[in-house]
Amino acid sequence: MAIDHPSFGKLDDNRIIIFDTTLRDGEQSPGFSMNLNEKIRMAEALTELGIDVMEAGFPIASPGDYESVKAIAESIGQRDDSPVICGLARTGRDDILRAADAVKAAKRKRIHVFLSTSPLHMKYKLRMEPEEVLELAVSSVTLARNYSDDVEWSAEDGTRTDSDFLCRCVEAAIKHGATTINIPDTVGYALPEDMTRIFTMLRERVPGADKVVLSTHNHNDLGLAVANTLAAIRAGVRQVECTINGIGERAGNASLEEAVMAIRTRNDAVPFRNNIQTTNILRTSKLLSTITGFDVQPNKAIVGRNAFAHEAGIHQDGVLKNAATYEIMTPESVGWQKNSLVLGKHSGRAAFRDKLTTLGYKVGDNQLNDAFRRFKDLADRKKVVYDEDIVALVDDEVMRDHERVRFVSLDLRAGSKAPPQAELELDVDGRVVAASSSGDGPVDATFKAIRAIFPHEANLVLFSVGAVTEGTDAQAKVTVRLEENGKMVDGQGADTDTIVASARAYVHALNKLLVKRDRTEPQALSA
Ligand code: MN
Repeated sequence: MAIDHPSFGKLDDNRIIIFDTTLRDGEQSPGFSMNLNEKIRMAEALTELGIDVMEAGFPIASPGDYESVKAIAESIGQRDDSPVICGLARTGRDDILRAADAVKAAKRKRIHVFLSTSPLHMKYKLRMEPEEVLELAVSSVTLARNYSDDVEWSAEDGTRTDSDFLCRCVEAAIKHGATTINIPDTVGYALPEDMTRIFTMLRERVPGADKVVLSTHNHNDLGLAVANTLAAIRAGVRQVECTINGIGERAGNASLEEAVMAIRTRNDAVPFRNNIQTTNILRTSKLLSTITGFDVQPNKAIVGRNAFAHEAGIHQDGVLKNAATYEIMTPESVGWQKNSLVLGKHSGRAAFRDKLTTLGYKVGDNQLNDAFRRFKDLADRKKVVYDEDIVALVDDEVMRDHERVRFVSLDLRAGSKAPPQAELELDVDGRVVAASSSGDGPVDATFKAIRAIFPHEANLVLFSVGAVTEGTDAQAKVTVRLEENGKMVDGQGADTDTIVASARAYVHALNKLLVKRDRTEPQALSA
């Protein structure tokens, strides 16, 4: 079967469409909200990664969501290599018109309409009878088709939906113009065999199912999101919904990097192709961590710090003799590079800019100047400057947007003889303000000085220190998590001085708290 798709033309049967929802399902999870510039930067990275569809947001959810989807459609959406730009909508007229308007400018666009179909959701969430739900599915798809030839319909909580009713809904959605049918495992309840059963059933029983793209959207509440995704592909699904680092509601979504590398590594069993440039995976993952302030755990598959580390002597010995003994894929295939001695204190601005380009950063002149100044400073203090150091430094300096509060300087007295004392200078709204504070240790003294300069009520709920590379002269990378009125933000900072890195991390988190937005109708943000 070859499907004729409004956005992709003739689709080969072995082609998997990668639908990324990092900017929608991922972004709506606690602590992961991004501002407009951060979303655009992420959208650019996702485009370079080679995703096919970008769910850029949920335009009705807030003015910020609408603006960001619109901005992505008007910028990336104009490029020849742009993915299909998709906006999410519930079934209401306002929702659909808002989504249609937000994606309007994109060369290739999609409206994604979702509606709950499970008995539980219909009774308690929608308070509707099945027949009303069916009518709503028809009217919403029909309306969306007025604004886009490419329309996706999702049966929210589809994996807990009665089989006969699911078939009727899917048939109606196809009949009225849906070109992609998505069956989300909204609550992360399904097992792989449920995927096999559901998609086999739809293909056997629903007229027209062979003319549309079937899609899977899995949550990781039982750790099965990627396993379910692969089972769905083998049962006929040709669109995979996923996110970078597996971020998303609750335990998250199927992770893009894991699903893509499973298909690639086990192509004998899952013989399908997609357009992902796998060597860009790590860079995209790190960009997301930098923007959101959440690192992946060290043992995270593909992109975790230990994903390719061999500790046991017998494993190391095997890998040195032949990497295939213990490596099922090469670290380079997903973008890992060996530590490389790159630049020193005599390196010039041009070499530094070249290095940034190879590492995947595009920086303006002002950003380059700031980053170069800090690089020179680092090279004075640290003998060997690795790629990882540059990444930490640039992430710390350049990737920050419109910050109201900036770190300027810190002078510190610490040790075992006298109480610690911090002399801190911050730039607040363009004005340098100084404060001096003591505390129960140098970190406490420094954080108290920040509060003295910029009073706020947030609680410090996490403080962690890691090293960027090995050695006692390595840069420290500090994560600080602040909590205020139930909102959590993480900030990160890097420096060879752990306390300076701590101050930078705290200031980063503080800035993120200042841009936090309120969202409307959070109960509707699902699917
Ligand atoms: Mn979801």
